[in-house]
Amino acid sequence: MFTKILIANRGEIACRVAATARRMGIHTVAVYSEADANAKHVAVCDEAVLIGPAPAKESYLCGDKIIAVALATGAQAIHPGYGFLSENADFADACANAGLVFIGPPASAMRAMGSKSAAKSLMEKANVPLVPGYHGEEQDADFLHTQADKIGYPVLLKASAGGGGKGMRVIEHSADFKAALASCKREAISSFGDDKVLAEKYLSRPRHIEIQVFADTLGNCIYLFERDCSVQRRHQKVLEEAPAPGMPAERRAAMGEAAVAAAKAVGYVGAGTVEFIANQDGSFYFMEMNTRLQVEHPVTEMITGTDLVEWQLRVAFGEPLPKKQSELTIHGHAIEARIYAENPEKGFLPSIGTLRHMQSPQAVTFELGGTLVPAAVRIDSGVREGDAISPFYDPMIAKLIVWGADRREALARMAQALAEYQIVGLASNIAFLKRLVEGQAFASADLDTGLIERNQASLFPALQAAPDTALALASVALLLEEKTAAEAQSSNSADPWGNALGWRLNSTLGRSLAFADEFALAGDSKAYAARIAYKTDGWLFNGQPLTLTARTGNELHIKLGERAVHGTVLRDGEQFHVFTNGLHHTLHYSDPMAHAGEVEAEGGRLTAPMPGKVVAVLVNKGQDVKKGEPLVIMEAMKMEHTIAAPHDGLVEDVLYAVGDQVADGAPLLAFKAAA
Ligand code: ADP
Ligand code: ADP
Ligand code: MG
Repeated sequence: MFTKILIANRGEIACRVAATARRMGIHTVAVYSEADANAKHVAVCDEAVLIGPAPAKESYLCGDKIIAVALATGAQAIHPGYGFLSENADFADACANAGLVFIGPPASAMRAMGSKSAAKSLMEKANVPLVPGYHGEEQDADFLHTQADKIGYPVLLKASAGGGGKGMRVIEHSADFKAALASCKREAISSFGDDKVLAEKYLSRPRHIEIQVFADTLGNCIYLFERDCSVQRRHQKVLEEAPAPGMPAERRAAMGEAAVAAAKAVGYVGAGTVEFIANQDGSFYFMEMNTRLQVEHPVTEMITGTDLVEWQLRVAFGEPLPKKQSELTIHGHAIEARIYAENPEKGFLPSIGTLRHMQSPQAVTFELGGTLVPAAVRIDSGVREGDAISPFYDPMIAKLIVWGADRREALARMAQALAEYQIVGLASNIAFLKRLVEGQAFASADLDTGLIERNQASLFPALQAAPDTALALASVALLLEEKTAAEAQSSNSADPWGNALGWRLNSTLGRSLAFADEFALAGDSKAYAARIAYKTDGWLFNGQPLTLTARTGNELHIKLGERAVHGTVLRDGEQFHVFTNGLHHTLHYSDPMAHAGEVEAEGGRLTAPMPGKVVAVLVNKGQDVKKGEPLVIMEAMKMEHTIAAPHDGLVEDVLYAVGDQVADGAPLLAFKAAA
């Protein structure tokens, strides 16, 4: 076996590959960009080498630099992960020329499958069923239009070199064809450097079902059953599961055999995925082959009890496949959810920033390659609490994978695990995923690629008022914080404030805490008042007795009236993040004492709310500004963020210029509030 490999990737997949390598006693070399100097994948590998600045084009996509690092560190092979160089045939050739093993298929197989059009022509010859359409060389607009008319609308145009759901256009009517073709070609050339397109019949209510295949260098090729990845947004997978619900054994065998035929037709070696699009009646057609390990491979590992990265390493070293087709069986059901730093309510826009707090669900160890453990929750993550999701790479935080004896059990475990996930610092899709897995459509396996769109109403419900239990938890956290501050102050006997706050704690006088939910700023305001009266053993909260019964760090157990409630409360400036009963409530606290303090506390510094780029500086050094006046605009992943003056005052200095990259929390301006 190899003794040292280089992992040419980052994030969760680099960590995933490193975990198997470590278990097999193989040393690992990580490569990283300047943005990833403190990244988890750097920490979990045995060695790590800096390969360039943050943009992938200058680091993770620099095949020559990566090969040089492999040679210098004595690695014998390179694992490309997914994305980046994983489907780059020239890189595979370059590895071979440098005497390194590329842990993936032969370059010839990657080239054959790299173009969706050419792949379809090959599959036609191998008798693999295809979606009716045109995938030839001719690219004349009138000719393609005639082909589309022949196929019958709706028609789907696809960039032949496309991937990641990009470069696709659905055309409903012949009259829209020319405009759609032009825009598809524009996107194809800018994203993939190749404007070749193909046209297909656009199936209605299809399912995305893919087959995991594996081949070795000795001529063996098998399939490890299917994954259903029908739940998608913008043609990108959101939930994946194995096996596919409702799959009859004969169809599974037929799809498996078609996938193996597809792999054999291109002399495939290693792990690959043959993607099919299937009608509700079960008829299926070849869509494309992904010549790499797939993001969603863990669901296959869980139901087959295999470690696919171990298989990749063994096959790349020239060993035979660890199992024969007849030795593989399906055990239980597995579901994966991709946890993304994104905002489902805002069209799934990526969200960047620092993971100020992250508590993952309790992982239940799943023995890979060994015996199956009946209860299983697995988290494949590439980030830790305190890490940043930067604008440079895919905003995936983690993959949450659960196993159950059957689909119902796996679903319940997924809902539970999502309820335990806590993230503060950026927007995530956790609450959305929870609604999705708990919703009727997914629970009853009414699957097709339009599931999310069809269920907009239930997946994006109107804002619910925060329950009084969440408000009570936030209030207790605030009152405890004040008490701690008061105690610290009162130990300094010269400070009259200590006494003042101490008095307040023991007072029976009431006060009102003002909170508002997170959409308050968008005008859709829901404000809450918590009327607090102090008692010796606790408080009165809006007239109900409230006591703290136990506390472990940020986790509070309280009693509100007759209800015992627990939850975690994290304060981030004026925001109180309350996690209780499987939900995340963000409550803004309006501190009546804040104003005097704020100017001082900011000491004249206005900081970047997230890492990003300065796109506009609207003021000059020495300029007087009014409260609320925009000063600087930052951009991070298509989103703009305006930094406005917190008070009337003077801009003492401007610390960045347009085009500069700034780190999260970096001071942008020196600001002096007017007296
Ligand atoms: P999967 O079916 O495995 O989810 P995707 O097409 O969604 O495959 O892509 C897998 C990963 O590869 C994602 O992290 C995505 O961001 C990345 N990716 C997709 N296309 C490209 C590309 N052209 N260049 C670089 N990375 C890509
Ligand atoms: P990518 O390389 O971006 O993954 P695919 O060809 O795999 O492109 O298609 C991505 C998704 O687009 C599929 O999972 C499916 O949801 C949808 N899709 C692709 N082809 C069709 C089709 N002919 N009819 C309906 N939906 C399709
Ligand atoms: Mg695909």
